[in-house]
Amino acid sequence: MLLETYRLEIFNSKCNPGAMAVHCFAHLDQDVSEAIPYLNTVLGGFNVTREPPSVTFRSQGKLITVHGDKIAINALKDETEARKIVEWLKREINEAWDKRGEIEPSYESLPRPQVMPILKLLPKTNCRQCGEPTCMVFAVSVTEGVKGVEDCPPLTEENQKKLKEYLTPFKLDF
Ligand code: SF4
Repeated sequence: MLLETYRLEIFNSKCNPGAMAVHCFAHLDQDVSEAIPYLNTVLGGFNVTREPPSVTFRSQGKLITVHGDKIAINALKDETEARKIVEWLKREINEAWDKRGEIEPSYESLPRPQVMPILKLLPKTNCRQCGEPTCMVFAVSVTEGVKGVEDCPPLTEENQKKLKEYLTPFKLDF
């Protein structure tokens, strides 16, 4: 087993201290740098760096970045949810590492979605319910995996479905 133990750090957003969501760092006691290109192949990161190694992807509605010594996860309900996701990642990291003989390691990022097709589906009222100043800024956040379909409350069911379909190939539909 590559990753055995870690320490959780839970904190509120500095940009928005009143927000209900919390963020988390899992400080890893074992270095998982070498597992990152294998994890990227398995989970499909949309932002991958080689030096220092890191992979960012969106899963379970969260933006998750795995570094060699740390995992960062945003927009969590509470510590229970943080522990659940970190335990899932621990399993994924260890499984990717154990099966590395069968997995082609990769530092390639998945292609990124375009801003305009996303913007076209949004209400374009700039109502700010998503926490962004405009629909355009929201669309850019979606391409970066920071915001998701569920973060625009006025989005119609039909366009929500279309947006999910558009984002599916980029693994940003969660
Ligand atoms: S909540 Fe939706 S409609 Fe309102 S500003 Fe954000 S993206 Fe635009």
